[in-house]
Amino acid sequence: MKMSEYDIIVIGAGVAGGVFAASQESNRKILVIERDLTEPDRIIGELMQPGGMQALKAMNLQHLVDNIDAHEVDGYKLIKGDEAFTIFYSEVEKNIKGVGLRNGKFLTNIREELKKHDNIDLIQGNVTEIIEENDVIKGVKYTDANGQEITQLAPLTVVCDGPLSIFRSKLSKPNKNVTSYFMGLVLKDLDLEFPSLGHMILSGDSPILVYPITSNEYRILIDYPGEKAPRIGAKSIEKFKEDISAVLPLEMVASFHSALENDELKVMPNHSMKAQAFRRKGGVLLGDSLNMRHPVTGGGMTATFNDIISLNKALKTVDFHDADKLENAIQSYYNTRSKDVETINILANALYKVFRNDDLKDACFEYLRKGGEKSWGPLSILAGVNRNKKYLLKHFFKVAMQHPVHFITKPKKQMKLYKDAVGIIRPILKEEERPAIV
Ligand SMILES: Cc1cc2nc3c(=O)[nH]c(=O)nc-3n(C[C@H](O)[C@H](O)[C@H](O)COP(=O)(O)OP(=O)(O)OC[C@H]3O[C@@H](n4cnc5c(N)ncnc54)[C@H](O)[C@@H]3O)c2cc1C
Repeated sequence: MKMSEYDIIVIGAGVAGGVFAASQESNRKILVIERDLTEPDRIIGELMQPGGMQALKAMNLQHLVDNIDAHEVDGYKLIKGDEAFTIFYSEVEKNIKGVGLRNGKFLTNIREELKKHDNIDLIQGNVTEIIEENDVIKGVKYTDANGQEITQLAPLTVVCDGPLSIFRSKLSKPNKNVTSYFMGLVLKDLDLEFPSLGHMILSGDSPILVYPITSNEYRILIDYPGEKAPRIGAKSIEKFKEDISAVLPLEMVASFHSALENDELKVMPNHSMKAQAFRRKGGVLLGDSLNMRHPVTGGGMTATFNDIISLNKALKTVDFHDADKLENAIQSYYNTRSKDVETINILANALYKVFRNDDLKDACFEYLRKGGEKSWGPLSILAGVNRNKKYLLKHFFKVAMQHPVHFITKPKKQMKLYKDAVGIIRPILKEEERPAIV
């Protein structure tokens, strides 16, 4: 096979591929192939936790959220029926902030950044094949914007083709589950008491999230549980409108009705997928093609950026033309990444299940409302700035055990609460503790 002019080929200029390429040293020649370079209009990846902002800063890429009318996010307001309370990121750590943004605008910023780097070629093309020779990944075949089929080779191919990845099975044993769907709209002209907070609405059977994405727009994500996508017909929309209006805070209802009439209701599956990569020379997975968790905590981009930092660390001094050393570096990335993403994954998958269990949801709401460390402790994990798994588990069990006296006064109810909590966390922990490389 002919020699390559590139050190790295990246499949997909989304959140993972784009930021990975932008974070590389200028002495590496990189080809980024993106299927569609027009600005997408998506409901995913719009709330960046403070941990994500810290990771961007660590890569000198914090400016990627500038000039897109992104909105500061200072914490959360939790709402259940008539009750509500707030928790601010500043209670966790001074000066940490999240940011709400339009995903498409963020991607445009990322792609504009790539164009500024002389060592990066960003091209529009649909990757159709990963080329292998003797079990080593050598590069890709893609169809360019003119329909021409082109082959490109490089010592390393970074697969970042997103949640619906078609290439992940070449490099991993994907076991993908759909836990629910998010139905998304943009709410405009909302007059909220705390415009800079994410709102977690726990009044119905399933959570609803509302957070700012520009100076005058909020994303609403409404969870639809189960593996089957919701039906979007005239009758079901009427019922949906009625059901959601009944649980939304009054100040959001008019804007929700207007969005239902004027905006396109977008639906996305919410996956969970454990990272289970193969040992494979010449290729590596990043982002949702490697690992997914429920988006209820808005942790996906933070986890992805933490992975990029781990991969960059592993690749830092590697000679890309030494295939064995490159493979060792990739293995080291898979082996070490979990400490920086496991709390994000565990919390996301566990919290979604807690919110789907009435008793645990009530217990969680009561616990977080107590203030002090019971509020900011769990928020520090959700924000992605605290990655201490033991600390996460301590709070998780404290939620279920906050009234030990109930083992005597309400033994049946308390035992069920405890059993439900264990039933949720045990399989998630077991799954998360399995190595990321098989
Ligand atoms: C409903 C929902 C809401 C979410 N909300 C949040 C949130 O608020 N905060 C958060 O942090 N995370 C959130 N996430 C998760 C987050 O969006 C993902 O973790 C993140 O986008 C992953 O980035 P990625 O690069 O892997 O995928 P993507 O950003 O989807 O990028 C993949 C890219 O690959 C390109 N591509 C695919 N196939 C090919 C091909 N064959 N050839 C060339 N290019 C190709 C695609 O066009 C795309 O640009 C959410 C997820 C969902 C499902």
